[in-house]
Amino acid sequence: MSQKSFAVIGLGRFGSSVVHYLHSSGYEVMAIDENEERVQMHADNATHAVQADSTDEQALQEIGIRNFDVVVVAIGVDIQANILTTLLLKELGVKRIVAKAQNPRHGQVLYKVGADRVVFPERDMGIRVAHNLISPNVLDFVELSPDYSVAEVSASEKMDGKTLIELNVRANFGVNVIAIKTNHKFNIAPSPEDTIHKGDLLIVIGHNEDLKRFEEEI
Ligand code: ATP
Repeated sequence: MSQKSFAVIGLGRFGSSVVHYLHSSGYEVMAIDENEERVQMHADNATHAVQADSTDEQALQEIGIRNFDVVVVAIGVDIQANILTTLLLKELGVKRIVAKAQNPRHGQVLYKVGADRVVFPERDMGIRVAHNLISPNVLDFVELSPDYSVAEVSASEKMDGKTLIELNVRANFGVNVIAIKTNHKFNIAPSPEDTIHKGDLLIVIGHNEDLKRFEEEI
């Protein structure tokens, strides 16, 4: 199977970081911006960097945009350009379009014009930071749906030296510990007899309410 190829349109902070990560992970990524300076800045950390206005259908065709497996629309402030670009990509037959939205209404429009996935980086990061401020033991979390999440919880003093069966997290809190990280080593199928040490990282899955109780009480 050949590796996926990507194009990223709009090289602001968000788009640039998508380009950097894909490129350093060894993927083919084309970086596109209408601003020549921004394009130059990406000459060395993208497979190709081209200057083009993505609201120009012909320019998109010349780039061969439909040949990429995934196209990311990372244009920010100019909402009109962001929506028009998404629409054109859809009409040109791009297989998968991921678009960045400024707010929920904008997100709805993007889905309507053909985005396969809409992301809200500022909102999501704000939620993550706030979550971490409320629960310092939670190092990170990923929302699976509005009700369920996976959280990385740092093991407290209370858990130190106890096994999963002693803590009985499933019965007491309704959550599941799916992995334990100790000193950079991952135990991805923890058994009930595994002992937890203070500072271990527990990867826990569950309903948001149950996770909250687990984070507060344990
Ligand atoms: P970030 O928060 O990611 O820094 P931002 O919200 O500030 O981004 P902008 O700076 O508005 O986003 O846009 C990101 C990039 O998109 C800019 O470099 C801009 O030149 C580019 N851009 C805007 N419109 C177009 C367009 N029609 N075609 C190509 N690039 C565009």
